[in-house]
Amino acid sequence: MIDAHAHLYLPELADDLDSVIERFRSAGGTHIINSATDPSSICEVISQAHTHPEILPTAGLHPELLVPGCDLYCRGIDEVWIETHLGQLRRTLSKYPQIVGVGECGLDYYWVKHERISERERLFELQRKLFAGCIELAAEFDLPLVIHCRDEHGDKQAEADALKLLVESNGGCVKGFFHSYTGSRSYLDDILGLGFFVSFNGIVTYKNADNVRDLLDAVPLERLLLETDAPFLVPNSLRAQGVKVCESVFITETAEFVAKRKGVPVTRLWKQMHENACEVFGVGG
Ligand SMILES: [Zn+2]
Repeated sequence: MIDAHAHLYLPELADDLDSVIERFRSAGGTHIINSATDPSSICEVISQAHTHPEILPTAGLHPELLVPGCDLYCRGIDEVWIETHLGQLRRTLSKYPQIVGVGECGLDYYWVKHERISERERLFELQRKLFAGCIELAAEFDLPLVIHCRDEHGDKQAEADALKLLVESNGGCVKGFFHSYTGSRSYLDDILGLGFFVSFNGIVTYKNADNVRDLLDAVPLERLLLETDAPFLVPNSLRAQGVKVCESVFITETAEFVAKRKGVPVTRLWKQMHENACEVFGVGG
């Protein structure tokens, strides 16, 4: 059982890490992909991987660093900041071969839409620079990308721009997966066409998520990954019981839901998820 995307360094989970890992292991869990989003969490995922062999770190710079109002937002990021931090990320990737992917990175135009037009365009452009730099590093180190891509409903510019950057850089031969994909069906076909995997989490269990379930139906088992995005997105039945913090063991509820939806036994689903994780990250087979 592999959780393809979580943020174990956030205090909700980091403060109780041994128990979080133990509960995941007792349910049959083997690996958790722990994705950093900014310079400080990159250090944390590396140190958590040192103490817990189940944890596989990925290192990236998240587009929400450039989204005013988000927790990650970092005022004053400009091209110099981006160059400096991409350089630092390159040094980190050469120094720590245990890093299994580049990300979380990508484009997030969702909240930026509320900014003034000139500021919005500036932030979009910086996000594209940051993502392009991460794609280049993934190509250079032959690592998969962990991609976050989100846009306002009905406006698919972020997906279009992300696909354009992926195709342009390195002739489109960088691979990886789109995590928590909630975009449009037409771009999903392009994503699969480019050879990327797509991962789903507790959102598929939510009552109002028919659009995400339609996307899940369109992704073949051979291209699917399961994740929690812990500590976020507690699956439906646990959320209904008042559980606020998502952790990796909760992936069992999402897996049961997905197995039923896909009409396969859970054991068969997990066997395929292991093969897929092995193909993407070179681990877990
Ligand atoms: Zn995430």
